[in-house]
Amino acid sequence: MEGARITDIIIEDSGEVTYEVVESGSNRGCKKLVSSDGFSFCVKSRKDQESRRNKNMTCKATVSQRDELFIAGKFEHCHPADSSLTKKVKLRKNVKQAGKENIFTSATKVVDLELPRTFSGQDFNLVNTTSFARVVNRTRAKIQISSSGTYM
Ligand SMILES: [Zn+2]
Repeated sequence: MEGARITDIIIEDSGEVTYEVVESGSNRGCKKLVSSDGFSFCVKSRKDQESRRNKNMTCKATVSQRDELFIAGKFEHCHPADSSLTKKVKLRKNVKQAGKENIFTSATKVVDLELPRTFSGQDFNLVNTTSFARVVNRTRAKIQISSSGTYM
């Protein structure tokens, strides 16, 4: 049968930047847009404002979204790209989730368990596990505050 043949063709185009929206991947709980060339943006309605800022310079790079289409703005980034950014954003999201679900597992252990799911062996040294453990602890602290009340 001619039509039944399935062929997977993967074309790698290094020149093309792709974007991925990660739900609640950022500190402030907003949607985060991560670009394949190592930049992140905080999604604010239709105009995506980049979340990463330099102390002395404000990065003017923006991305506009129209449905499935992402269009980079006219300004260049004023800081270097982070090639492991997409993975870091995913790891942050995963440790938050795992930390909430496994409240009796230590924060460090949660990070140790989630790390291999996002990063492969040689990339482990790119991750500051202490800062991710802090993310877990902060998430748990918020749960404790929000669940305060009267127990009867
Ligand atoms: Zn930038």
